[in-house]
This record gives sequence, C-alpha cells and structure tokens, in this order.
Amino acid sequence: MIRDRLRYHAPADVETACRILGDSPSAAVIGGGTIAVPRLGRGELRADDIVHLSRAGLAEVVLSEGELRIGSMVTYAGLLATPGIEQLNPLLCTVARGITGGDQIRNQGTLGGSICHANPASDVPTALVALRARLVLHSIEGEREVPAGEFLRGGFQADIRPGEILTHILVRPVDRSGYHKFKLSESSWPIVTAAATLTHDRQCHVVLGGVEPVPVRIDLSQIVGTESTIRELVAATVRPTWSDALAPAEYRHLISGEIAARAVAQLGGV
Ligand SMILES: Cc1cc2nc3c(=O)[nH]c(=O)nc-3n(C[C@H](O)[C@H](O)[C@H](O)COP(=O)(O)OP(=O)(O)OC[C@H]3O[C@@H](n4cnc5c(N)ncnc54)[C@H](O)[C@@H]3O)c2cc1C
Repeated sequence: MIRDRLRYHAPADVETACRILGDSPSAAVIGGGTIAVPRLGRGELRADDIVHLSRAGLAEVVLSEGELRIGSMVTYAGLLATPGIEQLNPLLCTVARGITGGDQIRNQGTLGGSICHANPASDVPTALVALRARLVLHSIEGEREVPAGEFLRGGFQADIRPGEILTHILVRPVDRSGYHKFKLSESSWPIVTAAATLTHDRQCHVVLGGVEPVPVRIDLSQIVGTESTIRELVAATVRPTWSDALAPAEYRHLISGEIAARAVAQLGGV
C-alpha cells in the first residue's frame, strides 16, 4: 500500500522540480510511473515526496541542427506520433512499436523512464547505446551531459546523482539501422536485444542487450560480414553474466550471436 503521508508534486518546470528534489531528503522522480508506482505500492521504493514530471515541459521531440532532442517524458506513443520520425529515426520507432504491454504501456511509459530504470533486458538502453545518444541531466547545481554507454553503470544502476532529473535524450541520425530481439511470446519481456548501426563514415556496430549487465558494443567495421563470422565474434566477445527470471546467462549467451546477426542483416549489406 502507498504510504498516506506521501506528498505529491507536479511542478510546471524543471527548475522547480529540481528545487523540490534538492529540498527533500527523500524524494522520488516519477515519469510515466509504470515501474515506479507499482514499486511504491509494494514498498520497494520509499519516498516522502513524489516529483511527477508530467507538467514539466519534457514531452516534446524537437529536431534541431540535424539532432533529435527527445524530452525524457516522451512516451513510446508520443514518439511514434511525431511527424517525420520514421525517416528521422527508424530504430527508435521499431523499439517503440515493439514494446509489449499494449497501448497502456506505450501511452504511459517513457523513454526516459526506461533508460533511468536500466533494466538490462529492456529495449531502450540497447537502442540508445547503439545510437550513441547523449543524456542531459539537470539539478540545482546545473546541467551535465553523459553518453548513454557511460550512464548505464550496471544492472538497474544508472548514473543519476541525488537531486538530478534526466531532461533530454539527444540523438544524431545514422545512415542505416537494424533491430532484433528475442522474447518467449508476444506478451513477454525481451531476453536478448540487438541494435545494429551503419554510420555515414561506414562504421558498423552491433550493440547487444540482456547478456551482460550493461549493453555491449561490438565493432564490425573491419569484418567481412558473413553471418557466421558475426555469430562467432559475438560469442567470443560477450560474457554470459546476466540472468533473470526469464532466462539464465548461459542461454542468453547461446542465442546472442544469432540475434546480433539478424539485426545486422537488416542493414542490407555492410
Ligand atoms: C506490462 C509491461 C510490459 C513492458 N514491456 C516492455 C518491453 O517489451 N520492452 C521494454 O524494453 N520495456 C518494457 N516495459 C517497460 C517499460 O518500457 C517501462 O515500464 C517504461 O518505459 C518506464 O517508463 P516510465 O516513465 O513509466 O518510468 P517510471 O516508472 O516513471 O520510472 C522508472 C524509474 O526511472 C526513474 N525516472 C523516470 N523518469 C526519470 C527522469 N526523467 N529523471 C530521473 N529519473 C527518472 C524513476 O524514479 C524510476 O526509478 C514494460 C512494462 C510493463 C509494465
């Protein structure tokens, strides 16, 4: 049961949100709340103050100087409703369409909440690391920018300092991309995810999620890319160190090469 002396805040801007976080010794940030609210209910997340970002002006996607600036409160549905987004970032669109949980989660869950939660088996961390996204974090001390690959510190561990809010996700376009994930059924959580990218300067990478506590990037630029070479390289590179209720580490390791090869195949020849 959620504690009855919880104070709820829905500040109208980021500065106010950060001030509340700075003033409260125990405050929790809520994005869409799809993870945080059930955790509050189960008593796994304890807070005296809840700072809900729904009114803080963070739900927009803006294209500026060739870069997408995605507010941390943009939901999967909000992203897909952005004009021109399929051309601007097909990889994020594939991820958003493939989130299980139906319309409820796609309308309520945010990209920001997913990367902050840092579940190794989630789609968004893999995609943002593959896209070399940068994350903008704000607190009363000021603003800092962190590459997605450094923001993820371990399973369910993100580099968010006390009093900080993730405000934006910055993403530059890539030339081509591919995404593949393996899950047990249409409604289940992913087990292994793979995002492949080819940049304008012909750099080719695949990033694997759900095998180690943080996404693993593998450089394929020097590979004469047959699928079997990719499978072997992946098997030799990733270490089976992540297990959860859906699958043990050894199983994840076993399938990771195939999942990577399928994502790379979508690049259409490298
Ligand atoms: C039924 C179901 C099915 C799902 N299926 C999938 C799936 O197939 N693939 C997948 O990848 N994910 C899946 N998810 C997870 C889903 O993607 C996340 O629940 C959602 O994106 C989290 O976003 P949120 O805004 O609701 O986060 P919240 O619940 O609001 O927050 C999550 C965590 O991040 C913190 N946080 C949130 N926003 C910020 C911010 N701006 N700054 C600082 N900290 C912040 C919160 O304090 C909390 O610790 C599923 C979830 C459910 C419930």
